[in-house]
Amino acid sequence: MTKCAICGNQISNDPADPHCDSAEHIFPNAVGGQKSISGFICRKCNSETGDTWDAALATSMQSLGLMFGVQRDRGEMPPLKTVTTEGERITLQAEGGMTLTNPEFKKTQRPDGSMEYNIKARSVDEARRILEGLKKKHPELDVETALADATAVEKYPEGDFHFAFQFGGPEGGRSMVKTCLAFAFSVLAGTSATRRRLTSAI
Ligand SMILES: [Zn+2]
Repeated sequence: MTKCAICGNQISNDPADPHCDSAEHIFPNAVGGQKSISGFICRKCNSETGDTWDAALATSMQSLGLMFGVQRDRGEMPPLKTVTTEGERITLQAEGGMTLTNPEFKKTQRPDGSMEYNIKARSVDEARRILEGLKKKHPELDVETALADATAVEKYPEGDFHFAFQFGGPEGGRSMVKTCLAFAFSVLAGTSATRRRLTSAI
């Protein structure tokens, strides 16, 4: 039986006990940690520090993770909305692709008084929804013909991406300290003397 390195409660093997043993990623799962250890912190502390300390660190590193295609042990990096230096609103996706953050809709009045619409949608389904909405205002619009005339375009953004990185802070810093201690714990095999030092360090 060992004690949780964060709250100091005895770590149990009872799944109904909030201080039950848990698999803790040495580097947080949210930033791509793969290796986990047990007997280090209880499930309650694992969950609470994951939602606070690790989440704060993950938020500060999200753009780096997406740019380098960091894979999570569980789940995916959430997409990141950004604006390029040319003002393009782009969303970076976990698999490395990027999409428009929102569909684009441009309305122009022609010299003869008729209206011209230019629509950039992210999928055929989205284009269809936009056209069906437009048809309420313009019943003469033939949605299927308009879709048949649409072209699929793949293009690179015109502008560059700007990212700002900021590490640490009260919560992200605690996550990094926890990672160091979890790593030490995994290497030193958690002797009782080591455990006492780790607990007092946190
Ligand atoms: Zn605990």
